[in-house]
Amino acid sequence: MHPYFLASRNYKNQNTVINVGSVDGFEVNVGGDESVFIAGPCSIEDEESALQLALKLKYFGVKIFRAMIFKPRTSPYSFQGLDTAGIPVLKSLKSKTGMILLTEVREAHEADAAFGYTDIFQIGTRNMSNFNLLKHVGGLNKPVILKRGMGSTIEELLCAAEYILAQGNQDVILCERGIRTFETYTRFTLDISAVPAIKELSHLPVIIDPSHASGKSSLVAPLSRAGLAAGADGVMIEVHEHPEISKSDGSQAIKPEQLSAIIKGRRF
Ligand code: PEP
Ligand code: MN
Repeated sequence: MHPYFLASRNYKNQNTVINVGSVDGFEVNVGGDESVFIAGPCSIEDEESALQLALKLKYFGVKIFRAMIFKPRTSPYSFQGLDTAGIPVLKSLKSKTGMILLTEVREAHEADAAFGYTDIFQIGTRNMSNFNLLKHVGGLNKPVILKRGMGSTIEELLCAAEYILAQGNQDVILCERGIRTFETYTRFTLDISAVPAIKELSHLPVIIDPSHASGKSSLVAPLSRAGLAAGADGVMIEVHEHPEISKSDGSQAIKPEQLSAIIKGRRF
């Protein structure tokens, strides 16, 4: 038997379009005719800055906000996110902005804790092969953005998606976020060919994350254009009002105005 089936074009030839909620009465779909822009800080640092940034991004046309409270950090000494203390912030972001919220979860109990306060779960690169977590969110009725493991093949990504689909949750969005190569100038290497390759193999929507892929704010705009040109259904970008004082991933964060220029398709 093929290692994955439900994720494949053999099972379903037509592109999957995933409704992730609505903003101000307008339905938001991933995988449809419109490219989606998901933006926000690496992690929520405090309620006020998150709220101000979210409102600004909404004004610039962003409908899905990165509302990260559980942060998998490479170093144990780095800022680890607000953790469950961030739940009230998610509540406040939802009621004050009406945006669609995206939250990463690293364990089943975090998915349960965030369930009522987020619209989309994210499973990050470090957990793509956490099969118990995949099965757990597969049993929950909520869209999942599944990021490619930094050392995983396309087939392994599709098998990870299969774990979620096989539990009944059909709303899986795949994310190419860069893989480890010998290149050190960039943090990872954005595998642009993965976008059309996954599209050949799977009906699931595909987005790219140029921020974590490159680790460099200067490369975010060109990689965003490249991803969309290659057929990605959307782009996820880290944005901070003051990247230089961001508590995490400041070197890859762009300012809200720069994101607006990307959305407008301008070069800058
Ligand atoms: C993130 O998007 O917040 C993140 C940690 O990304 P990745 O898992 O791709 O490193
Ligand atoms: Mn980050």
